[in-house]
Amino acid sequence: MDFTGDLHGRLVLPHDPDWHTARMAWQLAVDQRPAAVVHAATAQDVCATVLAAQQLGLRVAPQGTGHNAAPLGSLHRTILLRTDRLGEVSIDPLTRIARVGAGVRWAQVTDEASKYGLMALAGSAADVGVVGYTLGGGVSWFARSHGLASNQVVAADVVLADGTLVRVDADNHPELFWALRGGGGVAGIVTALEFRLFPKTEVQAGMLAWPLEQAATVLTAWRRWVDDVPDAVTSLGRMLRLPPLPDLPEPLRGRSLVAIEAVCDLPAPQADALLAPLRDLGPFLDTFAPTAVSDLHLLHMDPPYPVPAAGDGLLLSGLPSGALAAFLGMTGAGRDLPLLSVELRHLGGALRPGAVPGGAVDGLDAEFAMFGVGITPDATSVAAVHEVLDELREAMGPWEAATGYRNFAERSRGRFDPAEVTERLRAVKRAYDPHDLIHANHPVAPER
Ligand SMILES: Cc1cc2nc3c(=O)[nH]c(=O)nc-3n(C[C@H](O)[C@H](O)[C@H](O)COP(=O)(O)OP(=O)(O)OC[C@H]3O[C@@H](n4cnc5c(N)ncnc54)[C@H](O)[C@@H]3O)c2cc1C
Repeated sequence: MDFTGDLHGRLVLPHDPDWHTARMAWQLAVDQRPAAVVHAATAQDVCATVLAAQQLGLRVAPQGTGHNAAPLGSLHRTILLRTDRLGEVSIDPLTRIARVGAGVRWAQVTDEASKYGLMALAGSAADVGVVGYTLGGGVSWFARSHGLASNQVVAADVVLADGTLVRVDADNHPELFWALRGGGGVAGIVTALEFRLFPKTEVQAGMLAWPLEQAATVLTAWRRWVDDVPDAVTSLGRMLRLPPLPDLPEPLRGRSLVAIEAVCDLPAPQADALLAPLRDLGPFLDTFAPTAVSDLHLLHMDPPYPVPAAGDGLLLSGLPSGALAAFLGMTGAGRDLPLLSVELRHLGGALRPGAVPGGAVDGLDAEFAMFGVGITPDATSVAAVHEVLDELREAMGPWEAATGYRNFAERSRGRFDPAEVTERLRAVKRAYDPHDLIHANHPVAPER
């Protein structure tokens, strides 16, 4: 296979010295073995890769970072298309629209937007890919006030499965535009995305932490608390079993704890009044303070570099006392778990389906999202983490919502959407990629 003459970027093959680096995902535990890797440097490189794949009978798997590489499965006879060199970031402060290349990570956008007093609906981690995150939905620290990031997309440049580059928006390829907003990258390869930003520079944000032994008291109080908070508050409760890593802050290093993290888009006195009942529980750590929106990526303490990890999540239709008891029974201090973190994110507000209309996923029909993750340096630890995640899923089964959320699903999963959305996504796939050339992490088959 040689189409290197057409490329501005690079083709890397198994005998090349940098093969192992080129095929590596952000999730280091995922052993990607594609037929070849292309580092695309231009949209034309993506077109050339798609045409070459067609001729060779191969598939193409676009990948920004590999944060959600685990569900891709076998990449046998697939070209891994790395978009990391598509690094354009431009912001129009008048229209408040950002245009970003497919390889851009969130920190680049939040930093650039903050220069204009603007914020983006970024996720918790600085190095997650903007495009992969947004195509899958995008639950940000402003999710309850602004809804999913995908529904702020206004246009995309997309390479289709026939190798052509098209502009996709409300007037051009409207069905594909609908599918891209929450339905994942199933029917086209995005080379650039344009989306709305919002005027905001600072919020009240922070974490309260207690020893893990206090989890029942703290999470019961948080569960009651979220019933009354305004949509300006997006929060989560989590169980953390932290390793003694030097880059963790000293009071947390090597400790097991229960924590509440929140962003309150409210004036400080109002946020303080809201937080009072949680502070009354005597946290040993309280980091709430006025925080620049471009610093919010520090709040969740996500690793800023690739790690070997395995995780998975699900949506919960509610969290009544029985569900919370099941969660505490599985994840509380009495258990010796291989999970670094298990969290419950409060949904609702502008995440309710239809509240911010737009694409294939116009909200999450659930009250909470649960996500658990463990560090997995070897295959045995991957199996141990998956076993516990299976137990947790079973324990929470009675409260699992009928639909799922792509971004928090790190294993193959049957169903994310209501049946009519799945059928419409299938029709888009049939129209744009009938031979299933594009290999997405959460695929939609062209046929039933
Ligand atoms: C540490 C961490 C923190 C996270 N925090 C959040 C959070 O706060 N909120 C949230 O909603 N999610 C969060 N996620 C989940 C994250 O949004 C998903 O893993 C997402 O898929 C990552 O996108 P990516 O491009 O970085 O990953 P990748 O693995 O590169 O991409 C995932 C998939 O997206 C598709 N895709 C990527 N690029 C393209 C493209 N150019 N064209 C077409 N399809 C494409 C492909 O199907 C690909 O397999 C987090 C994940 C991690 C590991």
